Amino acid sequence: MNIHEYQAKELLAKLGVAVPRGGVAYTAAEAVEVAKRLGGSLWVVKAQIHAGGRGKAGGVKLVRSEDEITAAARALLGHNLVTHQTGPGGREVKRVYIEEGCDIARELYLGLLVDRETGRITLIGSTEGGIEIEEVAAQSPDRILKVAIDPASGLQPFHAREIAFGLGLEGNQIGTAVKFITGLYRAFTEFDASIAEINPLVVTGSGDLLALDAKMDLDDNALFRHPDLAALRDADEEDPTEVEAGKHGLHYLKLDGNIGCLVNGAGLAMATMDIIKLHGAAPANFLDVGGGATRERVSTAFKLILSDPNVEGILVNIFGGIMRCDVIAEGVVGAAREVNLHVPLVVRLEGTNVDLGRKILQQSGLPILAGDNLVDAAEKIVRAVKGVR
Ligand code: ADP
Ligand code: MG
Repeated sequence: MNIHEYQAKELLAKLGVAVPRGGVAYTAAEAVEVAKRLGGSLWVVKAQIHAGGRGKAGGVKLVRSEDEITAAARALLGHNLVTHQTGPGGREVKRVYIEEGCDIARELYLGLLVDRETGRITLIGSTEGGIEIEEVAAQSPDRILKVAIDPASGLQPFHAREIAFGLGLEGNQIGTAVKFITGLYRAFTEFDASIAEINPLVVTGSGDLLALDAKMDLDDNALFRHPDLAALRDADEEDPTEVEAGKHGLHYLKLDGNIGCLVNGAGLAMATMDIIKLHGAAPANFLDVGGGATRERVSTAFKLILSDPNVEGILVNIFGGIMRCDVIAEGVVGAAREVNLHVPLVVRLEGTNVDLGRKILQQSGLPILAGDNLVDAAEKIVRAVKGVR
């Protein structure tokens, strides 16, 4: 689960990570109130959306007066911000964060993530802050420092010092960096994060370290341990169909293609998307109905797929193990009737009670095409959809 910059900063501050003072606002008037409370004469108004690249896209505005704060907040709130991470449609800004302006001497990068290769929480540092770390990794990989942390020891001061030296920090800054990194690591582990990224981590004119930006992803599978964190979810930032699917225990991800997929098992779902691509079309979604799905769940899944206007055909690919093919077939038939199916549907069933399942589909009187195997099913749905155009 992704959270907003201001929420991440609040979590980090709780564990001693230095962040600028700031406050969230939903209207221009609230933005002015926050700035007054902060005091000073230089502030930044920052669009709060679940996407990076805001600075370049005009979503971070430096302001010096109440009028400028009002103008900046009005220019952002209620408008779509398009960054290279939002896609061409952009995201509507519904909240802004007002923060003290900071005197920046250097912009660095600091991140924590779980490295899949080593299976360890890994500290990443770079002197190239403020730009995307992927870009740095591609163009100057030698500028990326990595320190893997043994889970048995956890973060030790020497891990933090290694990164601090690598970032070119010196004198008192080393101790400050150790404190900063220790706080970041604690936040990462205690809040069950999967990513914590400070980009930029700045060295201020007076030599202090501050997290000027903060991105945190929290592990959905651990949210049951943090009911207070679950409340940070901003459903406005998520795909409504994905939110709806989650409520029914379905794993759905929207994609850009035109063939909807309903599959049981994540591996089979991946293979199904691959084979659709292999045959020259593109999947409209990833959808795993799980191993023990009921007829109702299949029906819900069907409706979710059809709620995507790009869907021009559906491929159901089920291997009946725990889940029996006749149950699937009944779910498919019931759902197709309920939603008045208007796009071609190919069903490939295999496994427990497959004969009964096929019979249910055949006798339904619905124009359902049977796929004899994975290749046949993919060919049939791709051909059917091309015929539609
Ligand atoms: P994004 O990564 O989405 O572009 P950031 O929060 O990293 O957004 O901000 C982009 C840039 O704006 C930063 O690299 C920094 O130069 C500047 N900036 C952000 N916050 C402040 C601040 N509080 N004071 C001064 N400059 C800031
Ligand atoms: Mg940033």
